[in-house]
Amino acid sequence: MKIKTKKRSNICPCQSSLSYAKCCKPLHTGKADADSPDSLMRSRYSAYVKGEIDYLINTTDKTGPLWRDDVEVWKAELAEFSQETHFQGLEILSVGANAVRFEATLEIEGKDASFIETSLFTTYDDKWYYHSGEFE
Ligand SMILES: [Zn+2]
Repeated sequence: MKIKTKKRSNICPCQSSLSYAKCCKPLHTGKADADSPDSLMRSRYSAYVKGEIDYLINTTDKTGPLWRDDVEVWKAELAEFSQETHFQGLEILSVGANAVRFEATLEIEGKDASFIETSLFTTYDDKWYYHSGEFE
C-alpha cells in the first residue's frame, strides 16, 4: 500500500503546514479576509512567495507611511522583489494585539537577506491592514 504524502508545493508558503488552498489562497483571491494580525502577516509573506502583488498593495494601510501613490511603479518593484528573492522560511516570534514580530529567511542573488521585523497592523471596517514595520 502506498502512503500518500502531500506534495511540498501544495503546502502553504507561510508554513502553517496547511495546504495553500485551505490557508492563504482564499485570502489572496478575496474569498476571505485575514481575521488577525498574524494571519494577515502570514498571508502577506505567502503573497510575496506567490507573486500576489495586488494583495500586498490592497492590504497596505492607505493612511500609513508605507502607502505609495505611484501604485504602478510600486507594483513593478514588488514584482521584481518577489521574483528575485528566494523565500526560505517564516517564523512568527510573537503576536500582540496589533503587532507581529517575525523572522523571514530569504536569499537574494545568492546572498542572505534574512531579517527580523516587528510589523504593526491596523483595522478598518473589520479588515486588517499592514501599517508599518521596524527592522531589528
Ligand atoms: Zn498560509
